[in-house]
Amino acid sequence: MKRILLILLFGVVLLNPVGSATELVMLDIGHSMQSRGATSPDRKLSECAFWYKNAGEVKREIEAAGYRCIICNRSSAPPREPYASYAKKAGVVHLNKPDTGVRYPSKYFPARIGAGMVSADFGIEQKPTCMVFLHLNSTEGWLRSPVAGLIIHSRVHGKALGESLKRAFNEELLDHSDGVSNGGKGCRTIVRYRKEETASGWLNALDDAGIPSAVIEALYVNNRVHAAYLLTDAGGKKVAQTVAHGIINWLTNRDKN
Ligand SMILES: [Zn+2]
Repeated sequence: MKRILLILLFGVVLLNPVGSATELVMLDIGHSMQSRGATSPDRKLSECAFWYKNAGEVKREIEAAGYRCIICNRSSAPPREPYASYAKKAGVVHLNKPDTGVRYPSKYFPARIGAGMVSADFGIEQKPTCMVFLHLNSTEGWLRSPVAGLIIHSRVHGKALGESLKRAFNEELLDHSDGVSNGGKGCRTIVRYRKEETASGWLNALDDAGIPSAVIEALYVNNRVHAAYLLTDAGGKKVAQTVAHGIINWLTNRDKN
């Protein structure tokens, strides 16, 4: 009898995810399908379209680890397929503020200014454990020389989250050895925070609210190797899982830091 109880107990521990179902991870899909953010020079890849396709996989992994997850976007639901279906399937909450690119203040911390601030304000209202903004990076034209990918984190509360995301990208995703990953040299990701009062307004607003936050800018739409990879189903899924692992690793190791 005792042995059966032990086996049952073991089964319950195994089947139950480790995370706390009361804790919430907020994700934000950057930009809008009307104004898609960074786009590859051949126009095949944009950061907004990429994350509509793949944010659901980040959410799935986070929920599988036992946490709640909400995805939001500053604009209205994409009217066209396949993005309409991606948004519906991932349960994206659309905040319906036209995305004009104009910067405006946070309603909670008016000194903090940014385009798409409605997302940070929505995040603050939900009282999440952390918030991660999903973007891709770009420079002018196709990249010819290596540029480090960025994870930008909120200055006071986001450092450990940023480091965890960086580690996930460097250890799980980027190839540092093959000589072609980033215009001639292996890729890497570094962390930054913004100290300016007005730049990265979302991160500063969330920091004021005491919420750890980060922006994913680790991959480049104008790096040919990155772009080709990001456009495949398997590549998109792997990137999404890498983001999820960076968040989950931070959630599970928080108390040890
Ligand atoms: Zn962006």
